[in-house]
Amino acid sequence: MGGILSIQNIRKGVNQCMSERTFVGGIHPSYSKEYTAGIPITSARPPSQVIIPLHQNIGAPCEPVVEVGDEVKLGQKIGEPKGFVSAPVFASVSGKVTKIEPYNHPLGNPVEAVFIESDGQDTPFEGMEPTKPLEQLTVDELKTIAKEAGLVGLGGATFPTHVKLAPPPETSIDTVIINGAECEPFLTADHRLMLEYADDIVYGLMAFMKALGAKKGIIGIEDNKPDALQSMEKAVSEGKGEYDIEVHALHTKYPQGAEKMLIKATTGREVPTGALPMAVNVVNQNVGTAVAMTEAIKLGKPLYERVVTITGPGISQPANLMVRNGTLISDIIEQCGGMTDDARKLILGGPMMGLAQPSTDVPAIKGTSGVLILTEEFVEELPIDPCIKCGKCLEGCPMNLPANFIGSASEMGKMDLAERYGAMDCFECGCCTYTCPAKRPLVQWIKIAKGEITASRKK
Ligand code: SF4
Ligand code: SF4
Repeated sequence: MGGILSIQNIRKGVNQCMSERTFVGGIHPSYSKEYTAGIPITSARPPSQVIIPLHQNIGAPCEPVVEVGDEVKLGQKIGEPKGFVSAPVFASVSGKVTKIEPYNHPLGNPVEAVFIESDGQDTPFEGMEPTKPLEQLTVDELKTIAKEAGLVGLGGATFPTHVKLAPPPETSIDTVIINGAECEPFLTADHRLMLEYADDIVYGLMAFMKALGAKKGIIGIEDNKPDALQSMEKAVSEGKGEYDIEVHALHTKYPQGAEKMLIKATTGREVPTGALPMAVNVVNQNVGTAVAMTEAIKLGKPLYERVVTITGPGISQPANLMVRNGTLISDIIEQCGGMTDDARKLILGGPMMGLAQPSTDVPAIKGTSGVLILTEEFVEELPIDPCIKCGKCLEGCPMNLPANFIGSASEMGKMDLAERYGAMDCFECGCCTYTCPAKRPLVQWIKIAKGEITASRKK
């Protein structure tokens, strides 16, 4: 079961709307950011062992380039991509490879993983060296840096960054948007990055703009983070040089950070059904990805760690931690004081789009933005009632989809009908399920329909 049912029990909050930049539809859940918004990023305890999955991105998995018994260094490549839409993975400790075999994965089925026992030395890989200043780097060099550093979208989508930096020749990109909305309740990793790494976000944005030949850069931030808006305004005014970059305050509304909603709010452009942002000459990147790009340029550092928010009423000491790839979630929970006695549910990511986990024996990966622990009151299972045709799910859907019809078609096994109603345009934000007074698990039914439609298209 996904995390979405949990959010039904989170009572709606009241927003102070300071900005008109937004989109049609969406919801106003209780944001619950207070657990961690004021807590600075600190480094998680170095793990004694990491288990690094060889598949951590949308697209093809990697194949191992190390063997059991090999000694590896921090930042050394251990998995090589099998295709263009893929990204390498790296050792997050120095030490010895003890096993290469399938292990639990946050997305569900076990995935081939490299087990490394740390030697506690963090001996850096010799290849981790600064490149050149941005002004001296060519477009091709920037694309290669993003690819070789294993960058992916750190908002959770994990789409390989170098692919976004390589639009088809007939497509010109005029705008790069940095996503600082962080509209998912509970999560604050991006918020803290905007406070603590603002200059790196601006530098990363400039690198993306140069790589794409984009004239305009926009940083979109929900207006419930006034300190982040201020921090980014300051960093932009001090660091943008000749680049044309603006910071946009966005109406606080879920899912403001979804790709199409963010583009609509910041540029007024609408991405057509089934198309990518490139269709409207835009590329989106997350604030964490911008920081990772800067570190790849300035430090030669590949993506082997990221900021993770550890939060919720079920964790003893909430935190924003820099977590190494492959660290077990059980290890992270332990160093945050463990779970409370009434903890009932673990979700990786936020409550709307995150994934519920049956076990804490699962590694943090590039896409792990949050570790959310919910308690009894949030996970009560309510009976599903018949649809009362109130239309609330239609009002809430940012894609203007008939979620009630798609859900019912899927429930009845009529996947062709679900497809005709537009199931494949759903990006699984969960607004429909959240708003439904009959507690109908619409997004879960739609996910099933999408899975079956995709499988039948492959056949
Ligand atoms: S139908 Fe899909 S896109 Fe629309 S509200 Fe439901 S989950 Fe979100
Ligand atoms: S919100 Fe629920 S009850 Fe209302 S129309 Fe949609 S599915 Fe039916």
